[in-house]
Amino acid sequence: MIEVEGLRKTYGDFPAVVGSTFDVDRGEIFGIVGPNGAGKTTTLKMIAGLVDPSVGTATVAGVDAGNPEMRRSLGFLPEESPLYEDMTARSYLDFFADLYDVPEGEASERIERTLDRLELDHRDRRLGDVSKGMKRKVAIARSLVNDPDVLIYDEPASGLDPLTTNYVLEFVRELRDAGKTVLFSAHNLYHVESVCDRVAIMNRGEIVARGTVPEIRDEYGTTEYRVFTS
Ligand code: ATP
Repeated sequence: MIEVEGLRKTYGDFPAVVGSTFDVDRGEIFGIVGPNGAGKTTTLKMIAGLVDPSVGTATVAGVDAGNPEMRRSLGFLPEESPLYEDMTARSYLDFFADLYDVPEGEASERIERTLDRLELDHRDRRLGDVSKGMKRKVAIARSLVNDPDVLIYDEPASGLDPLTTNYVLEFVRELRDAGKTVLFSAHNLYHVESVCDRVAIMNRGEIVARGTVPEIRDEYGTTEYRVFTS
């Protein structure tokens, strides 16, 4: 469902990503894990068509990164999701559904269902006045307004309390169980090991390990594994 071949990004002389290659199967949750500055965001943005690669290609559901067709099949959640603070959750999501040309009845039904599932209270409160966890839920709901087959989430659980972190990760699992394909990034392998079917470990722009969590643990041994999870 996602095919990434030799993606590389340099800023001036600095190699932010040095040749990522991996595939994500339909209906799979694939995690990219790594420390700050590893190149996770740059990789996800190149796949989503938001950053042009210096070299390499990426396709989502057979559509090349950057092709406007991709917006039909892709929901992208940025690490920092700027919300329009004077809007309410409902008006904000209606606005995005309109932007994505989702028919009105279909949009309102989907938005209500998603907000119910996310147990989002205060749907008519100004977004500037709601908690960080609630803002993240609204951003997640935004990624689903066009009912995409593929979701790319950049650190969806970062900066949240443990309860909300588990809630978001459980929601990601539900999306997979509903047939979506999910690619997401995280700092910590502990956060993703119960959720991901496979992971890639990134460090200094490079994918240094790839596979299921048990495979990575076996291949790299407990000491190196701890480095990835610390
Ligand atoms: P974090 O977990 O902190 O978000 P990350 O793994 O997502 O980190 P990236 O944001 O992809 O890492 O950044 C990878 C490297 O590329 C970092 O050293 C970053 O400073 C650099 N970088 C990212 N964007 C730019 C840019 N527009 N110009 C110059 N350097 C950049």
